[in-house]
Amino acid sequence: MPETFDFDLFVIGAGSGGVRASRMAADFGARVGIAEKSDLGGTCVNVGCVPKKLLVYGSVYAQDFADAQGFGWTLDAPSFDWQTLIQNKDREITRLNGIYDSILSRAGVKLFPGDAQFRDAHTLDVNGDTITAKHILIATGGWPSVPDIPGHEHGITSNEVFHLPALPERMLIVGGGYIAVEFAGIMHGFGSQLTQIYRGDLFLRGFDSDIRQALRDEMRKRGVDLRFNLDLQQIERSDDALHCVLSDGTTMDVDAVLFATGRRPLTKALGLELAGVATDSTGAIPVDAYSQTSVPGIHAIGDVTNRMNLTPVAIHEGMALAETLFNDNPSEPDYTHVPTAVFSQPNCGTIGLTEEAARDAGHEPEVYRSSFRPLRHAMTGRDEQTMVKLIVDKSDDRVLGVHLVGPDAGEIVQGFAVALRCGATKKQFDQTIGVHPTTAEELVTLRKPV
Ligand code: FAD
Ligand code: NDP
Repeated sequence: MPETFDFDLFVIGAGSGGVRASRMAADFGARVGIAEKSDLGGTCVNVGCVPKKLLVYGSVYAQDFADAQGFGWTLDAPSFDWQTLIQNKDREITRLNGIYDSILSRAGVKLFPGDAQFRDAHTLDVNGDTITAKHILIATGGWPSVPDIPGHEHGITSNEVFHLPALPERMLIVGGGYIAVEFAGIMHGFGSQLTQIYRGDLFLRGFDSDIRQALRDEMRKRGVDLRFNLDLQQIERSDDALHCVLSDGTTMDVDAVLFATGRRPLTKALGLELAGVATDSTGAIPVDAYSQTSVPGIHAIGDVTNRMNLTPVAIHEGMALAETLFNDNPSEPDYTHVPTAVFSQPNCGTIGLTEEAARDAGHEPEVYRSSFRPLRHAMTGRDEQTMVKLIVDKSDDRVLGVHLVGPDAGEIVQGFAVALRCGATKKQFDQTIGVHPTTAEELVTLRKPV
């Protein structure tokens, strides 16, 4: 091991977690370098949260145009141009790439464009440059995982869906997680004839069962062809279609198949064995409470550790690590009360325990729930229900979980996350005056348990 190193910290991967960790470490006075083999900002900025949300914004116009008539508007038949959307989205992503570049350079972090690989526990190779560092942070994220069925190469993943040359007229989405339901809403909104299949009884496994059911019902009402207990077995390409064979023996012809079947940690090509860093059977890097891997001095954060694969969590882990290593402030990432939203149409927002998890954890949950038609739809005539739900611990009145399906659920749940972090009780929810007329006020006016 050399006595002096080129860097105090070298980060592999300039995504959500890596950028934050490197910037904070540099702010604390560390000499920091970072390698990025693709575009700055990682998954979230380039093929994740940001372009996805832009596409969600774009696709809801279809419903808004239709609903506007109930408010007296008359519109010529709107038309939609996929290429304009993608070009404008790309321009915004390029702008964000530039912002990440200046964030790093302003913080004094030295950027090495290229693929980093371990040589030993303190040495990396980045495009032929040998770099040594006292601490190395692996923040390489994840990559879509595709089932190994015949013809899977004819399908695409979330990486490619953002760059499709044209909107597919007919599309099949395989999977029942975040990406599958979000893209079902997006592509259906833009006008694709959309089928989503999921191998289990009901999608969004792990979410509260009322969320799962409410979203299923609303997506079907909007016209998404949603099928459960069904899987894709084979894809054959013909001149004008992808011929899909499903597990119930039926077939369908579509123009694109999107595999939204999960993601795997990106660790294979890192040369981890040369540094002695252990991985688990999925390729994820196990870490201790301070994000240290099996090797002292080598750390890992974000999706590559497969703890909670969300951007704000990767950022939180990055900040905790910088505090621990360079600010004399040992900090464990805290995974309690992490709010999350599914940007489906309508949105789902969730924080805290589901009813099922509350019961499994030994609580005696008291459940408050309401379903109602949002005020807006009194004018549009649309048959759409919003669902709100609270899980309360009967023994001490603490609110254990807040779940909702409806417009802006992702925005609403953020504030309730603060309340749950503060240990809010149902009585305090009841004492809180609502904002009228909103969906959010329903969460402070639920009086009778179901
Ligand atoms: P990443 O952001 O993936 O960054 C890893 C970086 O490392 C990449 O830039 C990669 O090129 C680089 N890299 C890998 N190997 C090397 C190497 N050997 N050398 C150099 N560089 C390397 N999360 C949310 O919270 N909200 C959302 O709405 C949301 N939407 C999503 C939508 C989609 C379609 C997807 C796929 C994900 C979404 N996520 C969302 C999840 C979120 O994007 C990830 O949790 C987050 O990006 C993880 O950050 P990270 O720093 O761990 O990795
Ligand atoms: P998820 O893990 O959320 O969902 C994967 C889905 O694919 C599950 O329904 C799973 O089924 C199914 N599946 C897995 N393997 C197969 C297979 N071989 N055949 C058929 N179906 C299969 O992954 P996503 O890809 O949707 O997203 C990855 C992660 O990115 C998310 O978990 C989340 O952490 C993050 N993300 C966050 C977003 C947000 O915050 N809004 C948006 C998008 C992504 P089963 O349930 O039966 O295992």
